Amino acid sequence: MKLYEFQGKQLFKKCGIRTPEGIIIENNIAIPEKTHDITYPAMVKAQVLSGGRGKAGGVKRAMNPQEAAGFTEQLLGADLKECKIDAILIEECVPFIEEYYLSITLDSASRMPVVIFSKHGGVDIEEVAATDPDKIAKVIIDPLIGLQDFYYEVIFRKAGLTEPDLKGRIKEVIASLYALFNDYDCMLVEINPLMRVKDGSIIAADAKVDIDDSGVYRHPDLIAWREEMATSELIKQAKAVKFLYIDCEPDGTVGVISNGSGMIMSCVDWITKQGGKVACALDLGGGATADRVAEGIRILAQNPNVKAILISIFGGITRCDEIAGGIIKAVEKIPVPIVAKLDGTNKEVGMKLLVNANRTDITIGYTIKEAAEKVLKAQN
Ligand code: GDP
Ligand code: MN
Repeated sequence: MKLYEFQGKQLFKKCGIRTPEGIIIENNIAIPEKTHDITYPAMVKAQVLSGGRGKAGGVKRAMNPQEAAGFTEQLLGADLKECKIDAILIEECVPFIEEYYLSITLDSASRMPVVIFSKHGGVDIEEVAATDPDKIAKVIIDPLIGLQDFYYEVIFRKAGLTEPDLKGRIKEVIASLYALFNDYDCMLVEINPLMRVKDGSIIAADAKVDIDDSGVYRHPDLIAWREEMATSELIKQAKAVKFLYIDCEPDGTVGVISNGSGMIMSCVDWITKQGGKVACALDLGGGATADRVAEGIRILAQNPNVKAILISIFGGITRCDEIAGGIIKAVEKIPVPIVAKLDGTNKEVGMKLLVNANRTDITIGYTIKEAAEKVLKAQN
């Protein structure tokens, strides 16, 4: 699980690594007002899960709040390196005198953490590695003994770092980053550039954090972020095809598809009454075709918490045979079972299609109560 820069910096702060003061903007509401909350000049930074944003035009320097608002409006929602920019980080510009590179990752050959440090940061580290490999210190750490003092001496000697005060300050950052790397089950933590300011302080101007997916469950703050990232993505997908995706309970297991908010609420009530919990719901609105129903099911099934889907449709403009066709189409491609309750226009034709499909992952509920019972059974 890759973190956005602003999330990585929150972890840095927690672990005692200094980062610039900043604000995060995630929507178009009152941008000019928000940009007043920090001091200038400031850096306006597009939040996407890929590097090299500076070169691609995703990092801009603003001299005042108006300029920052302009950049923010221009970047938010735009594409950068094939990613949509969902958030903008605006931070006080750090008046650095030097830029360093620091990262910790897992060395695949030794299967141990490796600390990588260079006095030549702020640029593509791969380029430095290709042209001046001697300028990069790479030291493998034995995780059983941890980051003992002698490791720092090796790192600093290899990197050509001699000033005692500077060494002391960098040592603190490396120690904090190593603790973060271990505590958060990281696969990579990278600070490029790590900035040195005139007064001697060291500030992380960028943050790249990649966490082992199988360790995420141990960290409540990361679970929340993962859910935010996953769900905002589904809301977007649903919106793109004019469906409404609604997140329900974080520990819910059932997905609900219906037409109209009243229908959805009654499904949620019935599932709750039977002792289940709804993870999310999708409102199809009126007149859904088989293809659109299939697309809706595909979207809902992407929520990792959904273990079974209840589809309850009252056909008016929407025809039950179209719904049935969509269910049959979708079920081939998704790993979760579906329970369907169809009523209204072409109900008989729709039911017949579902029965004839003869699949174990499609069940019919003849009443909403029965459908709710069956969907809870189906998820086990
Ligand atoms: P990346 O290109 O995706 O790695 O984004 P960075 O966060 O590293 O920003 C790109 C470049 O912008 C950095 O290498 C810096 O040279 C510059 N930069 C970023 N933040 C600051 C800052 O606070 N102050 C100054 N002076 N430059 C910055
Ligand atoms: Mn960077």
